[in-house]
Amino acid sequence: MADSNRSFADLGLSETLTRTVMDLGYEEPTPIQAQAIPLLLAGGDLLGRAATGTGKTAAFALPLLQRLAGLPADRRPRGFIVVPTRELAMQVAQAIHTYGKQQGASVLAVYGGASFGHQARALKRGVDVVVATPGRALDHLRRGTLVLDAVVEVVLDEADEMLDMGFQEDIEALLSAVPEQRRIAFFSATFPRHLRRVAARFLKDPQQVEIDPDDDEPGELPRVRQVIYLVRRAHKEAALARVLDMETPDAALVFCRTRIAVDQLSDAMASRGYRAEALHGGLSQQQRDRVMDRLREKAADLVIATDVAARGIDIEHLSHVINFDLPTSPDQYIHRIGRTGRAGREGVAISLAEPRERRLLNSIEHRTGTRLELQAVPSVADLRERRLDQVRDRVNKVALGGDLAPFQRAVEKLMEQLEISEIAAAALKALADEMSPDDDYSQEIPEVAGRGPHNGGGGGGGARQGGRHERQQTRWGGQDTRGDRPQRRPRSAGAGWTKVYIGAGRLLGIRPGDLFGAIVNETGLPRGAVGAIQITDRFSIVEVPEEHVDRVIAAMRATKLRGRRVDVRRDREG
Ligand code: AMP
Repeated sequence: MADSNRSFADLGLSETLTRTVMDLGYEEPTPIQAQAIPLLLAGGDLLGRAATGTGKTAAFALPLLQRLAGLPADRRPRGFIVVPTRELAMQVAQAIHTYGKQQGASVLAVYGGASFGHQARALKRGVDVVVATPGRALDHLRRGTLVLDAVVEVVLDEADEMLDMGFQEDIEALLSAVPEQRRIAFFSATFPRHLRRVAARFLKDPQQVEIDPDDDEPGELPRVRQVIYLVRRAHKEAALARVLDMETPDAALVFCRTRIAVDQLSDAMASRGYRAEALHGGLSQQQRDRVMDRLREKAADLVIATDVAARGIDIEHLSHVINFDLPTSPDQYIHRIGRTGRAGREGVAISLAEPRERRLLNSIEHRTGTRLELQAVPSVADLRERRLDQVRDRVNKVALGGDLAPFQRAVEKLMEQLEISEIAAAALKALADEMSPDDDYSQEIPEVAGRGPHNGGGGGGGARQGGRHERQQTRWGGQDTRGDRPQRRPRSAGAGWTKVYIGAGRLLGIRPGDLFGAIVNETGLPRGAVGAIQITDRFSIVEVPEEHVDRVIAAMRATKLRGRRVDVRRDREG
């Protein structure tokens, strides 16, 4: 990560391009950009190992545009980018258009399955950059509608994919048609032998850059449960909402790539009823301090941040780190998730990955030496079941709290008309309706297939196998039995409340009602003196008012839970 703190301006980019990326909300170069841009600006050939999602498009597009800006006008293309698929051709052309708008660079995507004549006419009118799939590019070249004589910058993107798809001869023919005086850069997620042979034939002393070196030691991982959900971009917000409602995090840090994305997501989550705060490099120190205070005081559940902004903050209580956008390198992944699971407590790292980022996932697995489990986004049925769990916990707690006499009389009255089970079920339904957030689970979140042939070992993974039972057992939080709406709950703890660690959890069969009952019975404190209860597999955390904390600890040490004496102390982070 040596380069990770370089700014765009340090890389040698022009003022115009630097301003362009700042305006897009990019706060700093990604690792592949920090390494590749200075080398490309210096002029030599390059082999860059990077997958989609690492920011590789800007890594080659920005230097290419800068080179073109210094050249005299010509109708013939100066930049030539070859990509494996029509979809990628459109994406890369769109990126070039966005990055090159200020300098008025024109770009054309040329791919099979679209009108040849239309493309030929556009080429004839003149463009600065052509982004093409190999087969169609070769057709145009042979018919004279694509002229490569003036090309100075050549990029092969996803070069390994192109060879896998059988385009080697086409690529060699295209590379043979560009002038001698040009620069060629290959970008690829892997460099298999046949690709190296093509590189050896066409590239001159290429420099090599990579963000996932083979010989690195695996990164050190904290004790963190890691979950990946594969979702398309358009469904990410809805997926995040469902995941949050399932997990009910105590305090979550959500990472986005750009400032603009941070602002958009925090608005979107706020309008869905979450207490979300935005944190990015565009805020003043005072504004940042205010966000952090709100998180510490538990007046916010989510902080949505860029990496740059998150780097400058120190939050202790993170139960969850959520990669709304995947990090741009395996190292950054390790860095981000290291913010949870501290001080021996289990944390949760959740990533929402897009299908096209599967190879970045593979390189994260490779770097961390772990297999990342793909899970299906919680279904509406999962969320309903979760809500029922919460209703049951709530009822348990109230039953243990006593003071039921007036209600028992009401039940007797109702029993004149209804069966007892009907009364109980109706009361639960009323409670569930009341606890239900103003959610919108109606949006369909379609399944996306698993990681396909580049799976990095093991089966596909993404397919649903019937909801909750496939979820891992360990789930942090979610057992707050105090709020009226456990999902997107109002959190009143904070100032004046202290967390007590109790060394027994779900694996010993501990439920919130057990802890609540034990504390109230053993201390004689009022029920209101027990705050949020969180239960994980191996331990539980209970919030109590600071003035009662010693009494609670003494009483709980003297008592047995499920027949055992357990460790009870102030939570280190409380
Ligand atoms: P790519 O790997 O080129 O497909 O890029 C993945 C995504 O990252 C694209 O949506 C880019 O807009 C975005 N991106 C590229 N560079 C940066 C950066 N330096 N900071 C934030 N986002 C970036």
